[in-house]
Amino acid sequence: MNASPEIICPACGRESLLLRAPRYDGFKKVGESLRCAACGYEFASEAEVPFKAHAQTEVFSETDRPKPLRLFNENETERLCRRCAHYTINPFMQWCGLHRREVEATDTCPSFAPRGAPKKPLL
Ligand SMILES: [Zn+2]
Repeated sequence: MNASPEIICPACGRESLLLRAPRYDGFKKVGESLRCAACGYEFASEAEVPFKAHAQTEVFSETDRPKPLRLFNENETERLCRRCAHYTINPFMQWCGLHRREVEATDTCPSFAPRGAPKKPLL
């Protein structure tokens, strides 16, 4: 449910308020009349009402969300530290075990040693 009565009226183009009034058929309530407070334009149904809050939420819909960044360019031939047997990673840093220094995953290194496909357990 959208509790906000603020709308952006398609008829008058203004930021306005939604006027709700019960509609009766004789004494029986048959629905609601939904009208623009500024110009009196009547909406056919609640689904047609351009609620202002709703319109703002749509700006941040799922499709507009930035895609997760691809951190690494997948190229098997690159001598990247992150592909190296000496490279270790922990929550605090990325570490080259050979040079005993901090490295970046995308660094390249002349002492690159490819990690063997069947991984040897690190001792
Ligand atoms: Zn209006």
